[in-house]
Amino acid sequence: MFKGWLIDKIDGKQSVAFTDIDEANLPEGDVRVRVAYSTINYKDALALTGKGPVVRHFPMVPGVDLAGHVETSSDPAFKPGDEVFLNGWGVGETHWGGLAELASLKAAWLLKPPTGLSLRQIMALGTAGYTAMLAIMALEKHGLKPGDGPILVTGASGGVGGFSISFLATLGFQVIASTGRLQETDYLKSLGASEIIDRAELASPGKPLGRERWAGAIDSVGGHTLANVCASTRYEGAVAACGLAQGMDFPATVAPFILRGVTLYGIDSVYRTNETRRVAWDRIANVLNRQQLDLISHERPLAQALQTAEDLFAGAVRGRVIITIGS
Ligand code: NAP
Repeated sequence: MFKGWLIDKIDGKQSVAFTDIDEANLPEGDVRVRVAYSTINYKDALALTGKGPVVRHFPMVPGVDLAGHVETSSDPAFKPGDEVFLNGWGVGETHWGGLAELASLKAAWLLKPPTGLSLRQIMALGTAGYTAMLAIMALEKHGLKPGDGPILVTGASGGVGGFSISFLATLGFQVIASTGRLQETDYLKSLGASEIIDRAELASPGKPLGRERWAGAIDSVGGHTLANVCASTRYEGAVAACGLAQGMDFPATVAPFILRGVTLYGIDSVYRTNETRRVAWDRIANVLNRQQLDLISHERPLAQALQTAEDLFAGAVRGRVIITIGS
């Protein structure tokens, strides 16, 4: 038996419990991993609280991120004791995930830590940090460089937002942070934001085109915010859309795209190739400010995963929570 969170659905009613799970019920996999750390992403919070249709099969162990040690492997790429981690691939949605002491996984989903990052640091970063880097890579590929003008980051006090600010600032970009938590101004400035704006400025229906305010943007919020972000992006600028904390809708016009040549990039972290993942994680290992990682993240035990999910939706979590399991 091992401890873990189990989400079930019986007669249409979803339940979640921190419970003992029989190892015999683990899904098929090439590699069995003793999990040391996981984390609570927005998606995990949706799954744990049942607020969003994240879980596709029941019962399900949630947790889209995990890091730990190989116990057994039928794939020669891994041997017992190896340090491994995983982000996405549908884990925690269609395959049992990281919020448990044991996981049974496909070898093809696992990566070894990049040089210079511990398993704990990798989970402090989690899908949020990795997605922030994917968004920055999209803006760079577009041609944006430090000096081209400010980059707006929405959802700034959240995980993707915090790492976006930190990485962009380290790379030399000027960063504007949009937040609903103006009381976090000092924190956001310490991450590298030079200007803070109230997210209320962007949250309501706006004009098809606004004043050109930023060269690019990383958006975790969607909805009217994303529409307004595009409307105020400078000529030939770019926006990387990562999330939907405000909403799944995109009530925009084509004006920013056809009159200002703005480009909107979609960022998916879940099914990226391992080649892209390695590039992103190596870049994170190079740009990460280790002191800021401690500022952005804090630990909670596995038993507090559900409470953490509820706190996330109550706006009571700043940055990232590392879930400590068997470390
Ligand atoms: P998070 O830590 O909860 O951060 C979300 C932030 O969004 C909050 O901290 C808050 O920032 C802001 N926010 C929350 N509710 C809002 C609302 N109603 N209107 C406007 N802003 C709101 O979540 P996360 O892990 O960073 O993820 C952020 C989003 O990206 C989620 O939608 C998540 O599903 C998505 N995501 C997508 C991918 C991908 O592969 N595309 C990967 C990771 C995450 P302030 O308090 O500062 O305003």
